[in-house]
Amino acid sequence: MNKRTVYCDYAATAPLSTAARAAMEPYFAEWFGNPNSMYALANQSRRALDQARADVAAALNVQPSEVYFTSGGTEADNWAIKGAAAMTAHKGKHIIASPLEHHAVLHTLEYLQKEQGYDITYLSVDTNGQVALADIESALRDDTVLVTCMMANNEIGTILDVGAISALCRQRGVLFFTDAVQAVGHIPVDASQFDLLSLSGHKFGGPKGVGALIVRRGLRLPPLLHGGGQENNRRSGTENVPGVVGMAAALTDAVSRMDTENARLTALRDRLLAGALQIPYTQLTGDPVKRLPGLASIVINYIEGESMVLLLDSNGICGSSGSACSSGSLDPSHVLLAIGLPHEIAHGSLRLSLGDSTTDSDVDYILEKLPQVVGRLRDMSPLKPE
Ligand code: PLP
Repeated sequence: MNKRTVYCDYAATAPLSTAARAAMEPYFAEWFGNPNSMYALANQSRRALDQARADVAAALNVQPSEVYFTSGGTEADNWAIKGAAAMTAHKGKHIIASPLEHHAVLHTLEYLQKEQGYDITYLSVDTNGQVALADIESALRDDTVLVTCMMANNEIGTILDVGAISALCRQRGVLFFTDAVQAVGHIPVDASQFDLLSLSGHKFGGPKGVGALIVRRGLRLPPLLHGGGQENNRRSGTENVPGVVGMAAALTDAVSRMDTENARLTALRDRLLAGALQIPYTQLTGDPVKRLPGLASIVINYIEGESMVLLLDSNGICGSSGSACSSGSLDPSHVLLAIGLPHEIAHGSLRLSLGDSTTDSDVDYILEKLPQVVGRLRDMSPLKPE
């Protein structure tokens, strides 16, 4: 019960921020009205929804009319890609994608390929996880209708230059979508540069099950969900008022503290990385410079990532490994393979993602426990170094 807990899995989800919790509270019971009803109680919900939309728009430098609330990042990713494909089917069926995308993007592309005959070109990336603009240029064809590339990777923390990719796509008249789920609330994001951008509340201190798709004004993206015509007829379903209010409050709060918090997190992350990389046979994954402030990711040779996560957990440390996906498969992550790591090395991946609660003393604690955990696993491993 009294065991120390060090939560280092902010890239999986962040705890609800104090600001979000306080903002949401009245909308569960006191102001529970359906924002689409006519009476005063409902007007309070409508005003809260409008304010939340204005706040999200301001944080991302877009107009409120370009913000569409969804049930999270997965829905926003599905909607962006399926909607863009439906909008442009008359023009062609070729899509260009980064190979590092989240499964919410990759599996949607796979669906389009299998069920609708789309041809998907997956770009190659360098060992830091960066995409070359020249590769996109040479992959573009007359029938290319969409390019999709995430803003920041969830496993290795690499930040990609999606502004330049978007500019190229605009020049060539091709739609560009960026999954910014790991970026929004963590690094400055100017969504006005993109045709479509997805975000998710629970990655920056908002509640789970709420997100948004930013749709550039003038883009007639068809709806994914049909029904009562909410969200300007684009995304039906009674609005999740507390969720949306919480997400907007969390985002406003995160953006207002971003400069100081990112300086703090970068220092903690770098100390954690420097210490962890002292363990023999380890290496950094992701871009050493252009990376998310709170995300430390490494591979540790001669051990299996899942066992490491379990042993760290027995020491109260919550981290994650890209070695197994949510389906329980033991295949190493597609991200680690795409950056060129061999299977056996990709199996030893560890991601520690830091956030609001992380302190210097947490980093000390991890740096005390991690070498012990690795030593124990290597002692038991048939693959241990000579
Ligand atoms: N895209 C990226 C890059 C993510 O990291 C995640 C969540 O892990 C998602 C999309 C899915 O978001 P959600 O959990 O809100 O469905």
